[in-house]
Amino acid sequence: MKNKRSFTTELSAHQILEIDACTQCGECLKHCPVQDVTGNPAVSPPEKIRMFREFIRATDGLKARLFGPAEVDQKLLQDFTKAVYECTTCGACGQNCPVGIFTQRLWPMLRKEMVKRGLGPIGAQAETPAAIKNSGNPYNKPAGERYKPWFPEQVKVADRSDIAYYAGCTGAYEAQPMVKGDVLVLNAIGEPFTMLPPEEEVCCGFPLFITGQHDLLKDLVTRLVKGYKAKGVRKLVCSCPCCVNIMTRDWPAIYGEALPFKIRHITQHVSEAIKNGKLQLRNKLSESVIYHDPCYLSRGVGVIEEPREVLRSIPGITVLEFERHGLNSRCCGSGGAARKVYHENAIAMGRQTIDEAVAKKADRLILACPACYAKVNEAMQGHKNQIRITDIMELVSGLI
Ligand code: SF4
Ligand code: SF4
Repeated sequence: MKNKRSFTTELSAHQILEIDACTQCGECLKHCPVQDVTGNPAVSPPEKIRMFREFIRATDGLKARLFGPAEVDQKLLQDFTKAVYECTTCGACGQNCPVGIFTQRLWPMLRKEMVKRGLGPIGAQAETPAAIKNSGNPYNKPAGERYKPWFPEQVKVADRSDIAYYAGCTGAYEAQPMVKGDVLVLNAIGEPFTMLPPEEEVCCGFPLFITGQHDLLKDLVTRLVKGYKAKGVRKLVCSCPCCVNIMTRDWPAIYGEALPFKIRHITQHVSEAIKNGKLQLRNKLSESVIYHDPCYLSRGVGVIEEPREVLRSIPGITVLEFERHGLNSRCCGSGGAARKVYHENAIAMGRQTIDEAVAKKADRLILACPACYAKVNEAMQGHKNQIRITDIMELVSGLI
């Protein structure tokens, strides 16, 4: 009986129209990294849309209205759930969809529907809410270890300031050279910045949002917004594209009103500081580097030029590009919390990124996302191709 319930309650009218509008043309298939490494058509964007459309038809279609909703087969629902959670939510399918379906938003909302039905999330993703409730972060690590292992002694944090830095859970616990680089660069800019105490800098909510588990979002967002408001913050600088994404796109609706501060990715903040002369990169780097656009930074919030501006301001550097870059970048495999469950897919995608960087004869692969940083480093272990991996602010902090 439960499989006769409507499948459209978590979707906006626009998203229902998007599902209806898919022509099954298959254009998106050419751009899907999961399809690429698995070769499994069941995980493909049109197949997911086709299946979900059938579910809607069974419970909300014309026949359902005339004769009552039909029961949707449980096995089909399970297959769909697996497919929608295997996706990295990279959004490349939507970027290349002639109909303009905004898949980077659609897939998480379909996941939310599966959570409501008790089918999602999958595997370790289900532990995230309890971990965040217990420790404030999805890794269930102690708050006392959030800053301590990496925060440089010489950097002073103001009690109150216009500018705040949010390290984020993945940066603080899984990609410490990144966040260390961030605060060293902020310090070099010379403007005071504040941070919340480690026990108050809780998760931004993205791992919950992306896996369809929305229950704790309001509490997390309210605590963070109030914390920064109390410190007089007008600009919140983050290292993680996923934090930037949910803060920009979703925090105002979750919080219930406009945020009292603007959100900036660290590359935006630093590129501005370079342009207005607050930061000068004097040390030369005679290397060719290749920059990987994080999906949630480029396709997510349109931050494409700023990281390149930062890199090009380094004397002596040559900046190379992946075949797929900017709005068309190929996911490194770390997105959508899929890496927690489909580890082998993530490693295979990470290795594609490494292989292309090596084929292009780059001296370094530059990343700007803690999830990319952690997973691509992992993908390189034991791989035939090796390259130096450096976070963009880790690089910059070593040149000032
Ligand atoms: S490109 Fe768009 S319309 Fe074509 S199959 Fe993919 S999602 Fe559907
Ligand atoms: S969001 Fe990315 S991984 Fe998911 S279906 Fe689209 S292209 Fe494939």
